[in-house]
Amino acid sequence: MSNPTVENLVIIGSGPAGYTAAIYAGRANLKPVVFEGFEVGGLPGGQLMTTTEVENFPGFPAGITGPELMDNMKAQAERWGAELYTEDVISVDLSQRPFIVRSSEREVKAHSIVIATGATAKRLGLPTEQLFWSRGISACAICDGAVPMFKGAELAVIGAGDSAAEESIYLTKYASKVNLLVRSDQMRASKAMQDRVLSNPKIEVHWHTEAVDVFGDGEMAGLKVRNNQTGSEGQLDVKGLFYAIGHSPNTALFEGQLELDEVGYVMTKNGSVETSVEGVFAGGDVQDHEFRQAITAAGSGCMAAMLAERWLSARNLITEFHQSGTGVDELATDSANRTEVEVTVDFNLVVTRHEGGYALRKLFHESDRLIIVKYISPGCGPCHTLKPILNKVIDEFEGKVHFVEIDIEQDRDIAENANIIGTPTVQFFKDKELLQEVKGVKQKSEYREMIESYL
Ligand SMILES: Cc1cc2nc3c(=O)[nH]c(=O)nc-3n(C[C@H](O)[C@H](O)[C@H](O)COP(=O)(O)OP(=O)(O)OC[C@H]3O[C@@H](n4cnc5c(N)ncnc54)[C@H](O)[C@@H]3O)c2cc1C
Repeated sequence: MSNPTVENLVIIGSGPAGYTAAIYAGRANLKPVVFEGFEVGGLPGGQLMTTTEVENFPGFPAGITGPELMDNMKAQAERWGAELYTEDVISVDLSQRPFIVRSSEREVKAHSIVIATGATAKRLGLPTEQLFWSRGISACAICDGAVPMFKGAELAVIGAGDSAAEESIYLTKYASKVNLLVRSDQMRASKAMQDRVLSNPKIEVHWHTEAVDVFGDGEMAGLKVRNNQTGSEGQLDVKGLFYAIGHSPNTALFEGQLELDEVGYVMTKNGSVETSVEGVFAGGDVQDHEFRQAITAAGSGCMAAMLAERWLSARNLITEFHQSGTGVDELATDSANRTEVEVTVDFNLVVTRHEGGYALRKLFHESDRLIIVKYISPGCGPCHTLKPILNKVIDEFEGKVHFVEIDIEQDRDIAENANIIGTPTVQFFKDKELLQEVKGVKQKSEYREMIESYL
């Protein structure tokens, strides 16, 4: 669907850089359009949706979970009028003005663009990698090195470049020993970094060594390794494995349209966030191969929005959108409503939305409507992603279905009976019969079609 209006600013990406740019642009009355992404370059909300505790983002002395932090940023962007679409951008045209940005669902024209598509840490694809991700395996030593489970433990790092060297040295602050696995007989890191690694008594370098797989019972207990010259296998009793094998910036969309470096990072000018195309700015990990932290991403997202506003203003391109309120009242009402639902003791069969095992049991036996059950768990990033998607679809079927949210930590027995082995999972019931089960996050249109097919 093509919209003839020309937007002030389109922001691509919804990690800390994208949402911060949206907050600043929103407050500057630009009403930015944000493509949050869906699956191409990671989850909406970005990399922090895949982690648990974030201990180093200022303002949260007790820490905050990654998904919660991103939910807060999103709410703040919405409060200031950002228009959010949970869609991947599939193409951009920066050769004409206004620029054109396309997703599978719409085409948007824009005077300026902020690129905040982030970067994806490369993974090795070990057989049990998914199982131990964030439970031993990490791609960020600065982020995860200090967690209690790694204190005084033996750890492993994989890589041969400057990052691998830096991360190994950093981890010696917490670990009893760091094993650095290098595939060949030499490191690519600078000579100075190599010297620091080789002279550190807490680091042992394993040359010609590759990881085979991680093992453990719930938590990581060790790593199987193979010498790629002799073929001999062994194991390291490490509690943590840190990948330092590089990142892939999410810039395939922009190839040939603006300057990228040899790895694919967006090139920015003068330590700023200006790209090689006027009116296009880049913030966050997509243009930063050095720091790659949430706070630096947020900082450069702020810079990108401020420069975009100045650029638009100097060319008289701004159409201002003034908000009727600050949105604070809506937020307060929203949370008050939630609390009311959460604490309600009087079960009401007529209402559409419910929470918890008690409601599900009652509905299962007494309702003749389609019952849609969403199983979630507190630390689950994709559950946060699913929430607004499914909420919007349920709104369309108000009064025609029942929707029940089950937190599997609070209602373990229900989750066990329903054979839930991962979250988010959505089940559809009618007349006490399970009709369909859907794991993970799908597009709105897919949930809509499923519901329609059962009504
Ligand atoms: C497991 C883990 C733990 C971490 N822990 C910490 C920590 O404790 N503290 C810390 O400071 N940093 C941490 N980091 C690093 C931090 O997450 C990143 O530095 C930060 O998220 C970068 O923000 P960003 O906005 O640049 O991009 P990202 O967070 O990478 O977000 C990119 C966004 O772009 C979207 N996108 C990509 N392609 C498209 C497209 N084609 N169309 C639309 N959208 C698209 C994605 O969906 C996503 O929303 C961690 C990283 C990981 C992986």
